[in-house]
Formats: sequence, C-alpha cells, structure tokens
Amino acid sequence: MTPPIRVGIGFDVHRLVEGRRLVLAGVEVPSDVGPAAHSDGDAVLHAVADAILGAAGLGDLGEHFPDTDPAFKDAASSDILGRVVEMARDAGWAVAGADVNVLLERPNLAPHKDAMRQRLTELLALEPGAVGLKARTLEGLGPIGAGEAVAAQAVVVLSRI
Ligand code: MG
Repeated sequence: MTPPIRVGIGFDVHRLVEGRRLVLAGVEVPSDVGPAAHSDGDAVLHAVADAILGAAGLGDLGEHFPDTDPAFKDAASSDILGRVVEMARDAGWAVAGADVNVLLERPNLAPHKDAMRQRLTELLALEPGAVGLKARTLEGLGPIGAGEAVAAQAVVVLSRI
C-alpha cells in the first residue's frame, strides 16, 4: 500500500544586488541589497514551492514558472506558492508541515524571523507549530558569507487528502 505521506526537498539561491527589495517568506526585510531575480526573488518561498512540487512528483519550479515567461516578471512569489499548493491539492496532496533554513550574512534576520514564520504558516494554511524557520550566517565563508547571495533550504511533508 502507498504510504499516505510524501517528503520533498527544495533549495534556492539568488545573487544580491543594490536597488532591489529583500523579500523573504513574503516579508519585506529592510536591506541595502536584494535578490537579482525575474520574480520578487523570494528564496524561501521558491525553496518551499520546489519542495512541494518534488514531494508531489510534479517536477520543479523552473518547469512550471520559467524565468523566460513575462507573466512572472516581478511576480509575487506568494502567488506562485499558492498555485503550487493548488497543483499539489489537485494531485491529491495537502501540505502537512515545512521546515526552512535561510542562509544570509546580513542583514540580521533575528528581528524578522517570527513574522517570516507566521507568514509562511499562513501561506501554507497550516497551524502554528507546523512550520519551522531558522536563519543563520555562513560565518563569512564563500559567496553567501561575503554577502553576495541569499539562499534557502526547505523540507516539506505532504499528506494524502
Ligand atoms: Mg528563486
């Protein structure tokens, strides 16, 4: 018998450039730099959406929302995530939980973590406690550590509807 749960993993990274808003998990974080991206470049929501697609066996974000498609220019990633949640639902799967790592050197996300986790919980229509969100630096190592990029990792569990 097929088990009634599935798990998916997601990852996203964006270069940080001047003159862009920094939006993470649907929350705007005051910053001098933001992601170079076709959409709003929300690495957290992109990683979560990719994890959902993977868990549902529905491919990946780039296939469904290509960055060559003008329809997604400056798209709110919350809309993209909403569509992915619908696609999973149509395939018979509901999001049951998610856990996220945000990798960013600066700004410090500690003052924004609760709002980010709450917004992600709302976007996934989950109860408080079903979503985890951690933020950490890379201790100055590599391009993320140098403040040149933001990345996010996500794990999602889907349950059979
Ligand atoms: Mg992305």
